[in-house]
Amino acid sequence: MAKLLDKQRYKCALGAMQTVQAITRAIPILHSGPGCAQKLSDSIGSSGYFSPNIFPCTSINEKDVVFGGVKKLHSTIDNALKVVDADLYVVLTGCIPEIVGDDTGEVVSEFADADKPVIYASTAGFKGNNYKGHEQVIDAIIDQYLKKSENKQKGLVNIWADVPYQDLFWLGNIKELERLLEEIGLTPNTIFGYNRGIEHIDRIPEAEFNLLVSPWVSVKNMKKMEKKLGIPYFHYPTLPIGAYETSKFLREVGKFAGVDEKKVEGVINEHENYYYYLIERYADLFLENRVINKQFSVVADAQYALGITKFLTNDLGLVPAKQFIVDDTPREFRDAIAEEFTKLNYGLKAEVAFETDSYKIHEEIKNHDYHGYPLILGSYYEKELTEKLKGNYLNIAWPVQDKVVFDDFYVGYTGGIRLIEDIYTVAVQRFN
Ligand code: SF4
Repeated sequence: MAKLLDKQRYKCALGAMQTVQAITRAIPILHSGPGCAQKLSDSIGSSGYFSPNIFPCTSINEKDVVFGGVKKLHSTIDNALKVVDADLYVVLTGCIPEIVGDDTGEVVSEFADADKPVIYASTAGFKGNNYKGHEQVIDAIIDQYLKKSENKQKGLVNIWADVPYQDLFWLGNIKELERLLEEIGLTPNTIFGYNRGIEHIDRIPEAEFNLLVSPWVSVKNMKKMEKKLGIPYFHYPTLPIGAYETSKFLREVGKFAGVDEKKVEGVINEHENYYYYLIERYADLFLENRVINKQFSVVADAQYALGITKFLTNDLGLVPAKQFIVDDTPREFRDAIAEEFTKLNYGLKAEVAFETDSYKIHEEIKNHDYHGYPLILGSYYEKELTEKLKGNYLNIAWPVQDKVVFDDFYVGYTGGIRLIEDIYTVAVQRFN
């Protein structure tokens, strides 16, 4: 029987047009109906050199459903190459062409000799959500563009984190991860964000290893690169937020990369000294507010649900109530992710639910005894509910309508401090 899904927290796979957009001077060419890009585009931080309003699109209609849309796709790619000055063209397919059986791969192969690379990814909405679409785009780059390199650069590390734009903090987070790796002497390489792009994609095969910071998104991409390009990978499932997890992260990455232990400890020491200096200055505030927020719940994708639960428990000493993962995590990853929620300090364990239905999530939050005002970190959908419960609320997950983020971030030592600032800015307003 068909189910009703209340307040979905992701888009369809074609939402991966935002993954392409996050690669500087890469443009998606949409082989889809005319309304898809309009429905999938966010107005938050997605204008710029290319924006969804100018993405070339075949805008297929009833006639193409009957006779096929491949001719239209060919002319759309042809014209995009002539009039759009990009470095990489990524054809993304929506539902209609895939249902009627257009051979997109065949059309794209006709542009193998074009001056600029043209690749394609299968991103029909019925194949999954935009987390999967993101993986499809990276797979397309690996399968259709990258070649194995014998020229390895010592210390070069490709960093992969979660999904651009779906993760509001994607730009700031990846830049901070780069900074942290640089500090321990490694050379980071990322393909998303400012001043990145095709040159950085070209460097991927020269890396010593891939670093994946995500509970599950892109694990398959890492395996593919290991097999096809001979690049080993290090998977760190927790987004490191705050001192405890970031120091652990640096030690483990440093060990995998063979970085001198003393160098890593020196970097950790310097950051921790400053971090705890800041924490000490506000110890009174934390103690007072712990009385207000005894327990918290995070309603977010696996990345933030896990990263924030560890941070609030390990660094701030708060007690986790039930946590909710809303990204439709594939079943094969769920046990390992749930296990991470049992590895909290002070012998604490958090119960976690993989749940995409907001109605059920909200019922559970309403019926739970938080022993005081709840602290809820989630999407905009949790705002009204938390207000009714007289709790403290922070909008950290998509959809985001309560916060403007340019390059703010929550990762690392500095990110942990920023998250504390955001939470306690909300908490102190209760007394105004
Ligand atoms: S679900 Fe299909 S038709 Fe709807 S926006 Fe996504 S690709 Fe387009």
